[in-house]
Amino acid sequence: MNRPAQVPPLASQGCSEQKQAARAAERLSQLIACKTVSIESGGERKEFERMQLLLSEFYPQIFKSMDLVRIKELTLVLRWQGLNQGRPPIVLMAHQDVVEASGSWKYPPFAGVIEDGCVWGRGAIDDKGCLCALLEAVESLLTEGFVPERDIYLVMSHNEEPMGDGAAEVTNWLREQGIEPVMVLDEGGAVVDKVLPGVRGLTAMIGTGEKGYLNVRFKAASRGGHASTPPKSSPLGRLASLINHIEKKPPFPARLNPVIRDLFRRMAPQMSGLLKFVFGNLWLTAPILPRLLASMGGEARALVMTTCAFTMARGSGAPNVLPETAEVTANLRIAVHQSTQEVMDQLQLIAAKYDVECEKIYGHEPTAGGLLDSREAEILIEAIGKIYKNVNVAPYLMLAASDSHHFSSLARNVFKFTPFHLTSDLRGGIHGLDEKLPIDELERAIEFYKTLIRLVPSS
Ligand SMILES: [Zn+2]
Repeated sequence: MNRPAQVPPLASQGCSEQKQAARAAERLSQLIACKTVSIESGGERKEFERMQLLLSEFYPQIFKSMDLVRIKELTLVLRWQGLNQGRPPIVLMAHQDVVEASGSWKYPPFAGVIEDGCVWGRGAIDDKGCLCALLEAVESLLTEGFVPERDIYLVMSHNEEPMGDGAAEVTNWLREQGIEPVMVLDEGGAVVDKVLPGVRGLTAMIGTGEKGYLNVRFKAASRGGHASTPPKSSPLGRLASLINHIEKKPPFPARLNPVIRDLFRRMAPQMSGLLKFVFGNLWLTAPILPRLLASMGGEARALVMTTCAFTMARGSGAPNVLPETAEVTANLRIAVHQSTQEVMDQLQLIAAKYDVECEKIYGHEPTAGGLLDSREAEILIEAIGKIYKNVNVAPYLMLAASDSHHFSSLARNVFKFTPFHLTSDLRGGIHGLDEKLPIDELERAIEFYKTLIRLVPSS
């Protein structure tokens, strides 16, 4: 993997930085070799214990000098005492667990191979790359004798991927201690190119909110009959009609919320032609935009409305047996202008038409997110600007779920930003095949965290 073309090398890059990057890459490789697949998804506890032992060996200053609290045994919370302890702290997060790796990979996914200037393997980007960069940055600052202006908490949950309780319990613990962070930074948007069709240049996408999440089971019962003389309406047939209805005529309203509106406003100057006009004149075009984006499908649609993906199905166990009950499961991502209950009500109405029952398996609400107009946002943007020259910055809503949504009721500023420049090839590796992180990006992320921590103000 070559260095992405548009990003110049770090100005300060010298021999010692290169050495630090090589050492960090070696450590990231060893972290990847701990197969920390979430325990809820069949992973083994001993892999987490092995990785945590490695972390304490790699980063002795951190584990010696900071207060460590274990939540649910495997989630780690480290408190770095700042100069002004009365001030609300900052929380910096990265999760320890990864998703499984199936399919055919160029290099074994849990070997941590370093090749072609990249560290390869499951978790290289999501999220051990961030975990490693964050700890490298903090260890380096501690070695320099740096003390932050206020307390900084490092939060590393062990079950982000299956939406486990690690991060949620951390917020409960913080609440019990009376601690309300002024700013939380977790994984999220990255520095990307071609963020929207026609947009030139790189954009740092800072998630400020995220869509909600809902898993729903639809169940249709049989009215009897033999496979040789099937009834007119079979459970699978009714479910198929229901799926067809929801896919062809989704009942969810499309809307342009303030965060997405601000994203378009900021992107317009980088566009050309008709797109520049459409996105640069939202006062005129806003009423038609939601429907236009919804019709485009993919990410454009996901930005403005609730989406529904049918992911699992079950019928009978044999080709010649009509199922007594058949079921399908859908995974929905709830737009910020809806609630899980509102969506359930919509689904129930449609399901009733096809004599299908529907039940909620799991859900959490969306978090609306804000514009990048706070002092804390300015600090984050300043840190990004020091590392990435000539980069646009835009707020957005995360389409996927992250641990940080638990903090939205506790902290005023929750930012979701992964400090790597990720090409579409690199992004394709996240939860996919051949996940890899260029060592240059790891080095850049270490500098980003160091810069951000140095910018944390005293008051
Ligand atoms: Zn992640």
